[in-house]
Amino acid sequence: MESIWKKTVEIPKRDSLKEELHTQAVVIGAGMAGILTAYLLKQKGVESIVLEAERIGGGQTQNTTAKITSQHNLIYAYLIEKFGEEKARQYAHANQKAIGSFQKIIENEQIACHLKKCPSYLYTTEQNRVQELENEALAAKVLGIPAQFTTETELPFTISGAVKFEGQAQFHPLEFLQELSKDLTIYEHSRVVQVEGNTVRTEQGTVEAEHVVFAVHYPWQVVPGFYFLRMHQERSYVIALELPGDQPHMAGMYLGVEEEGYSFRVCENRDKTVLFMGGQSHRTGENTSGGKYDNLRKHAREWFPNCSEIAHWSAQDCMPMDHIPYIGCFTSDRPNWYVATGFEKWGMTSAMAAAEIISDKIIGHKNEDQEVFAPQRFPVTALSKNFTENVMQAVKGLSKQAFSVDEYPKKCPHMGCKLEQNADENTWECPCHGSCFGADGQLHSGPAQHGL
Ligand SMILES: Cc1cc2nc3c(=O)[nH]c(=O)nc-3n(C[C@H](O)[C@H](O)[C@H](O)COP(=O)(O)OP(=O)(O)OC[C@H]3O[C@@H](n4cnc5c(N)ncnc54)[C@H](O)[C@@H]3O)c2cc1C
Repeated sequence: MESIWKKTVEIPKRDSLKEELHTQAVVIGAGMAGILTAYLLKQKGVESIVLEAERIGGGQTQNTTAKITSQHNLIYAYLIEKFGEEKARQYAHANQKAIGSFQKIIENEQIACHLKKCPSYLYTTEQNRVQELENEALAAKVLGIPAQFTTETELPFTISGAVKFEGQAQFHPLEFLQELSKDLTIYEHSRVVQVEGNTVRTEQGTVEAEHVVFAVHYPWQVVPGFYFLRMHQERSYVIALELPGDQPHMAGMYLGVEEEGYSFRVCENRDKTVLFMGGQSHRTGENTSGGKYDNLRKHAREWFPNCSEIAHWSAQDCMPMDHIPYIGCFTSDRPNWYVATGFEKWGMTSAMAAAEIISDKIIGHKNEDQEVFAPQRFPVTALSKNFTENVMQAVKGLSKQAFSVDEYPKKCPHMGCKLEQNADENTWECPCHGSCFGADGQLHSGPAQHGL
């Protein structure tokens, strides 16, 4: 199903690459991360070419809920404890700064994209988690974020406590990308099939560049980088509900911290006020029985009885092992390749942070927040549990394939894992690395790079 964003914006088409070109930087992927990187490179005097396999914004970005916030679930107390205050401060600063950068760009470029300043809340309905939220509010405050603990929200059910961040924002991501991409050199339907040193090849063309940026959501290469061992993908579901005009609606954005916690935000869509309600997350490839949308609808009927559903969709994102995105040099032996991935469903500010860090690296400027995101970090103690879990999942998927009794089991072209059906979407998903395919075998999202 199409998201509200997709239903309301049609970004003009671009040609595909059919020639040999030379430039300073090539950006692979025209989602939020790729377009912001190309834009900031241009601002910093670096010429770039963007190569997109499908359409601008046509990856996960078209299905985001587009909260622009540094409130990334319970992260700040965890970061201080695991990585120390300095690294936690870099994370907080990069994401807080990103909110301001969105506002500045939108103002400077005069982009009409329904940008709205609003607070963001993280809530719990469980009394025994209140302390955790109080600690999070304190940790965020120590790191310079305008945070406070509260028990007052606009939610239609009782909560035990919440953390409120002031000065956050929300927008229409495709209206934003449409305007921001206008003056950039972009080729669509130009899937990159090989990168060797400075040479980037598509089916019909080549770009030679001093710098290569992988903004592809999930880097498809097995080697170098081993990104498939460092993260997994998680899918979540969204329903859009039309709110009656006479009813007061939520000004803030919300996320529950429980496993069954729900996400809420309101947006103005043409002449309608629409509430997004999201949740029902699972590891990609683990929804064979379905019922995710129905669970959302059941609660929606209870909490918002006068609303009607006007759209529903799902999306997935890469979950890094230590909850910090991988932004920076792709590997230490490829100093002119860069990567932006592992946004853990916080890809708006993370994409902006990535664009700042990578464009700074390309112009030879040390970004003050780069260290915490460096893909070369590996504090083994913090990672070992997740790392083992990821390897086990990959082995499980591969062995399921090897011992499958189906005559023609569906097999992922990425690394050969057995695919599982997603009953809600009628798609096929890889439980190891998260590639997703339509019932007709068409590729929906990677790391796989072609259909079944
Ligand atoms: C349900 C849900 C809700 C979310 N809500 C929020 C939110 O409220 N706020 C927030 O901050 N984040 C949110 N996120 C996360 C956010 O949507 C993503 O992190 C972000 O959109 C990712 O952007 P991206 O540019 O990295 O990837 P994408 O948008 O997927 O872009 C990558 C692009 O690379 C292209 N590509 C891939 N391979 C190749 C190749 N070989 N050659 C050329 N091009 C290639 C793809 O076609 C794609 O267009 C949410 C995520 C989910 C799952």
